[in-house]
Amino acid sequence: MNDSLPPERLEQRLPDSKPLYSPGEAKAEADRCLYCADAPCIRACPTEIDVPTFIKKIASGNVRGAARTIFEQNMLGASCARVCPVEVLCVGSCVYNGWDRPPIQIGQLQRYATAVATRDGEPPLFTPKSNGKSPSATSKSVALVGAGPASLACAAELRLQGHRAVIFERGDLPGGLNTTGVAPYKLHVEEALAEVDWIRALGVEIRSGVEIGRDLSGEQLLGQYDAIFLGVGTGADHRLGISGELGAGVVGATDWIARMKIEALGRSQPLRRVAVIGGGNTALDVARECALLGAEEVTLVYRRGLGELGGYAHELAECRNAGVRLLVEVLPVAFLRDPAGKLHGLRLTRAEGGRPVEGTAHDMPCDLAVVAIGQSKLEALADQFSGVAIDGRGCIVANPSTGATGNPRVFSGGDCANGGREVVHAVADGRNAAREMNRRWGAT
Ligand code: SF4
Repeated sequence: MNDSLPPERLEQRLPDSKPLYSPGEAKAEADRCLYCADAPCIRACPTEIDVPTFIKKIASGNVRGAARTIFEQNMLGASCARVCPVEVLCVGSCVYNGWDRPPIQIGQLQRYATAVATRDGEPPLFTPKSNGKSPSATSKSVALVGAGPASLACAAELRLQGHRAVIFERGDLPGGLNTTGVAPYKLHVEEALAEVDWIRALGVEIRSGVEIGRDLSGEQLLGQYDAIFLGVGTGADHRLGISGELGAGVVGATDWIARMKIEALGRSQPLRRVAVIGGGNTALDVARECALLGAEEVTLVYRRGLGELGGYAHELAECRNAGVRLLVEVLPVAFLRDPAGKLHGLRLTRAEGGRPVEGTAHDMPCDLAVVAIGQSKLEALADQFSGVAIDGRGCIVANPSTGATGNPRVFSGGDCANGGREVVHAVADGRNAAREMNRRWGAT
C-alpha cells in the first residue's frame, strides 16, 4: 500500500457493492452470452472492448486471454469494470434487455477477468516493445500532465509501442478521480493505486508533486519531450457565491469525496444533518455516501424539477434506497451561521425554471453542506502552450478522435477536454491520443 495513505479512512466503512464473482459464477454468467454478431455491447463501449470475444474466453476457461482482449482496448479495464455506468453502456445495450430477461453482467465478468489475470503472482500480460539495449524501443518521449485515467491510458499505450512516457502529477497520489473521486462502494483507494502500479510496471514514470506552470513551464516540457499530453481533469469546485459560504461546514463535492477517501479517519467530521446541493452524478454519489456512512439526515437540494436532474436514474434510485430526501425546485440563497461562525442551516427559496420565487424563503437545518454544482476549467494550463485554445465551456479544444490541439506537439483528453464525462471516456481519449502520436511517428 502507498506509504502516504492513512491505514484507517472513512471510505473503508463503505464496502464493495458488487463483490468479485467466484469462478463458478463467472462461468455460469459467461455461458448465457449469445456471442452476437455485430454485438451492440461493443458499440456501446467507448473503448470498443470486444465483449463477446472476452466472454467466450471466460466460458472456455481462458481467463488470461479474456483479460488480454479487454486490456488491448482499455488498459484501465480493471477500474472501468467497477466504475463504468454499465446500465447505460454495455449492459444497457445487451440484446437480453429487449426480451425482458436479465442482461449479461458484462461489468462483473470484466472485473473477474482483469482481477484474476493481474493478481499477485501472475506473470505480466504485456511486454513493452524494446530495442534490447534500453527499455524504450524508440527515441520518442512524451510528457503527460496529470496522473488520472486519461494520462494513464495514454502512457500505457505509448509504452506498449516502445515510447518513453513520463507523467507529472501536482498532487501526492496518482490515479486522478479513480483515487480521489470514485464512490468507495465501487472502488477503494488501494485498488485504484494497485492499478496505477500495474501501469507503472510497464515502465511508465510518475513524478508526483510537480505542477506545470509552477515548477516547470510548458516551454521547458516542449524542450525536453517530443509531445505533451494534457490530461489534468477538471479544476476546483464551483461555489454558489451566496452569503455564509466561506467557512467550516461548507465544502465542494470533489474536496469532500477526496477527504473521505484519503484522509485519516480521526480528521473526518461526524455526519449529522447534511445538505447536498446539486443534481448531477457527483451530487447523487455524495448524498448516497453520506447516508450510507450513517448521517442522521441527508437532503439533496436541486433547483429544477426531478425530470431535469442530470444524474443517472439508477443512481437516483440508489440514493432513495439509502434514505436520501429529495428537495427539488428550491434554490439556496444563504448559509446560516451562529455568532461563532458554526454552520446551522441553509436558507432556501422556491424556484421556478431554476429562478427564485420572491417571498418563499424558508430555513432548513444542516451542519454540513456539500456543494456539487460542477468544477471550473483550467485556462492557466492552456496558456503554457502556444496554439492550445479554450472553448466556451472552459475546456481545452482537442479533436475528440485524436486528442490533437492547435499545437501540433500537444494533445489533450479526459475531463479537461471533454467537459467531464465517465472514466471510460477519459481512457478512450488517452488511448486514442497515444495511437495518433504513434501513427504520426510511424509515418516519419
Ligand atoms: Fe453477449 Fe449481450 Fe453482448 Fe450479445 S449483446 S454478445 S448476449 S453481452
